[in-house]
Amino acid sequence: MLIPSLRKQNQPNAEPVPSFGPGRELKFRDLDRLLETYLSKREISTIYRAYIFGYQAHAGQRRASGESYISHPVEVARILAGMHMDAETITAAILHDVIEDTPTAKKQLVKGFGKNVAEMVDGVSKLSKVSFSDKAEMQAESFRKMMMAMTKDIRVILIKLADRLHNMRTLGAMRGEKQRRIATETLDIYAPIAGRLGMHSFKHELEDLSFKAIYPKRYAAIEDSIRKSRGNRKGILKKIENGIHKRLRQDGLSGKITSREKHLYGIYRKMKDKSLSFHEVFDVYAFRIVVGKVDTCYRVLGALHSLYPPIPGRFKDYIAIPKSNGYQSLHTTLASPYGVPIEVQIRTDEMDQMADAGIAAHWLYKTGKAQQQTSKWITGLLDLQKKAGNTKEFLESVKVDLFPAEVYVFTPHGKIIVLPRGSTPVDFAYAVHTDIGNTCVAAKINRQFVPLQTQLRNGNTIEIITDKHAVPSPAWLNFIATAKARYSIRHHLKQLQRRKARKLGKGLLDKALGEYNLTWKTLPPERLASLLDELQLNSEEELFEDVGLGNRMAPLVARQLTPLIADTDGENIGPRNRGVRPIGIKSNESIVLHLAKCCRPIPGDRIQGIATAGRGIVIHRPDCHNISAFRNKPEHLIDVQWDPESDNLFQVKIRVDTINRRGVLATLASSIAESDSNIDHVDMDDRDGNTSSLYFIISVRDTRHLDDVLHRIRNVEFVLYASRVDG
Ligand code: MN
Repeated sequence: MLIPSLRKQNQPNAEPVPSFGPGRELKFRDLDRLLETYLSKREISTIYRAYIFGYQAHAGQRRASGESYISHPVEVARILAGMHMDAETITAAILHDVIEDTPTAKKQLVKGFGKNVAEMVDGVSKLSKVSFSDKAEMQAESFRKMMMAMTKDIRVILIKLADRLHNMRTLGAMRGEKQRRIATETLDIYAPIAGRLGMHSFKHELEDLSFKAIYPKRYAAIEDSIRKSRGNRKGILKKIENGIHKRLRQDGLSGKITSREKHLYGIYRKMKDKSLSFHEVFDVYAFRIVVGKVDTCYRVLGALHSLYPPIPGRFKDYIAIPKSNGYQSLHTTLASPYGVPIEVQIRTDEMDQMADAGIAAHWLYKTGKAQQQTSKWITGLLDLQKKAGNTKEFLESVKVDLFPAEVYVFTPHGKIIVLPRGSTPVDFAYAVHTDIGNTCVAAKINRQFVPLQTQLRNGNTIEIITDKHAVPSPAWLNFIATAKARYSIRHHLKQLQRRKARKLGKGLLDKALGEYNLTWKTLPPERLASLLDELQLNSEEELFEDVGLGNRMAPLVARQLTPLIADTDGENIGPRNRGVRPIGIKSNESIVLHLAKCCRPIPGDRIQGIATAGRGIVIHRPDCHNISAFRNKPEHLIDVQWDPESDNLFQVKIRVDTINRRGVLATLASSIAESDSNIDHVDMDDRDGNTSSLYFIISVRDTRHLDDVLHRIRNVEFVLYASRVDG
């Protein structure tokens, strides 16, 4: 019996255990020993089941070292078991690579190990997919935040960190280039995440392993210097330690005093950042004093300051004001009689545990204090006010969004863009560059075309397709989430409206001047100058704009520009000069030309333009009742005509009376679709229980197309009447 703890349970419906050679069983045995110290037999048997599942799923796969693959997830689980992580986390750790590296589906994990475990494995796999090293630009901070944001359960991050730690410990099996790449990523991304979670022993090991892989020579040199220095220091360290002990005893205080050394990478960084020599960094006597109560910390501090004089400006009270990752301690530096300063950290047991394990202290130390601390810590991380008191609440709180307000996405070149939640490809386009936003026509997310209003998700790679002739659509204002996009779209539309209005206004003025056989070019400049002066306008462009927006009527302006002719011609402006071309209507542009919603003209209809203050020109059908008000204001009437080139669709309203029968609406809808038209809106008016009037707004190309649609509708069974209506 190689794993007695498992085999001796006589579970009546235990699954048949595949036979393993001794080497394979051994892989589980070390883990099992650890698990027995804090988990129940039942939990361990589930973990063993996960081991067998993982073993079979990874069968035949090998690590770069040549070992069978299962050794890796088991080691990852062992690191986490050392932190006393719960059974679900250990189970997920053993299975952490099966979705990514084997044909196993998430569904199978749900069935075999429950939803929580399956979610965690899925979460780890998702993190693995976003590869930092693929990305051209190193935006480590955003990337770290993105990883956190993608994670709904803190335990996923812990598994990922343990995964990375084991990969770093076994990095030697990789090629040199790959080693450096993985080590750089570890240094940029994973070590800082461990730091953010307060897991300092994790962070330091990741940093030292990375440093060794990236700069093996520097690592060896510092390691050598440390070894040489240690011997010289021993005696003095002992003397100082004894001095402190004696002083504390005199004051009736007690604490555990340890001397400590900075980790290797820490020394290197300090040398580099502050341009110090190895000895300037390393030759500091550093002690830690761990005591029972917070109050004692301050009394120990007082005792030390009376033993050796403190160096001004070096005292820090991280007990009263903890660091953002929850770290608490008193720091002080004393001037020693040995020529080098003494750095001292003073803290309680709990603070010491937190300083070492951070978030993991929640699982590692089952004391109420650690639980409270980590809860508080998570609360701080989440930036929430509520306190998670007990374990259940804590586990709830580790499963929420860490950055609920933000979403992290990539450009095709790997740059990370941070946007508010709810942002769309249009917001993304404007965030990259205003011009890209203004000319955006389509978007791809992870290489798939998506509608522009699609909400972005963490880790998406967004590609924007632009067209230099495209303009922003007012419809975008309904779904965008960023102020920058909103401002830019509004600004652009305004500019566009002005440009179009100027062009239209100039055309209208030219046409009106044509009635006097004048053109804009042949106009005497002094006439124009005096008119602009009179109207208090700065330029002819402003005049064009005013006319194009319908604020001034072109015929009136033209008459003011030609007073001599106007005098002889009197009030009457018409009849119109037939040599002047009317304005062409291409589509229902919402900029300066509008198709009236009352009569909805479509190509083929006779039309009449009305200059309407502030809106530009509104196009009506000549028999529209809204036109009658303008009959005696001819200066508002503008000749317009359909542009023959246009093949756009135009909205028109129709009424269809039917006998009430199930499915009539569906039949109508399909006959409209068959005639190549779209339904944009339907209203129903139930008249007397037997018949209904249906009002459709449909899109058609022109009157011929409309006739075709109506003809088809009239042939539908139970249809009594079908015709175009106003409105
Ligand atoms: Mn792995």
